[in-house]
Formats: sequence, C-alpha cells, structure tokens
Amino acid sequence: MTLTENTQSTAAFHNENEVTLTTENAPRCKHCGEEMVKMAVPREANFNTAFFWVCFNDDCAYFKEGWAWMMEKYNVNASYRHRIDPSNGQEGPLAVWSFDALKDRIFN
Ligand SMILES: [Zn+2]
Repeated sequence: MTLTENTQSTAAFHNENEVTLTTENAPRCKHCGEEMVKMAVPREANFNTAFFWVCFNDDCAYFKEGWAWMMEKYNVNASYRHRIDPSNGQEGPLAVWSFDALKDRIFN
C-alpha cells in the first residue's frame, strides 16, 4: 500500500513539473534563436492545447524563406512560422498569409 502511494505521488509531481517547464519557459526558435511567444489556439481547432509557442520574428529565416517555398510549391502568397505544440512538444509550420497574420492572438 505504501509503495503504491509513493509511486503515485512521484508520478503526479513529475507531471506537474513537466507542465511548468513547457508553459512557463519560452523556448527559443531553432531557426533564428529568438524567444518564441504564446499564440492562443482557437477552441474550434480541436487541438489538445490552449496555445502554441510561435516564432513571430519577421526576420526569422524560416519565415522569410517560406514565401518563396509556398509560391513555388502551391502558387500561393503565404509563408509559415516555426511552431511548437506544448502539449506534446511537436514542432511544425504554422501557415500565415501576411506579416501580421495571427499576431492578434499573441498573449503573455
Ligand atoms: Zn524564428
């Protein structure tokens, strides 16, 4: 009985610790080194998280090169920003259609 209780409390503490790490410490963008910021995820988007870490640096190489790539591949005037999902740590592109797109969703 005592052993089970100990295991459970350790697991709970571990989880709590992980959440603290992923929500409070802003990661740095691996493309430009800038601190990433929180962007609110729309509720209807059905993601497992309330926010994404996103690099909104307009000088980020990933974002700057994205315009040409999207035009070449999809013939659309759009780009993408580096994004991390804090619920599972997965990285990926976040499509944007202008320099200011989605910036109104940034919060602290
Ligand atoms: Zn960046």
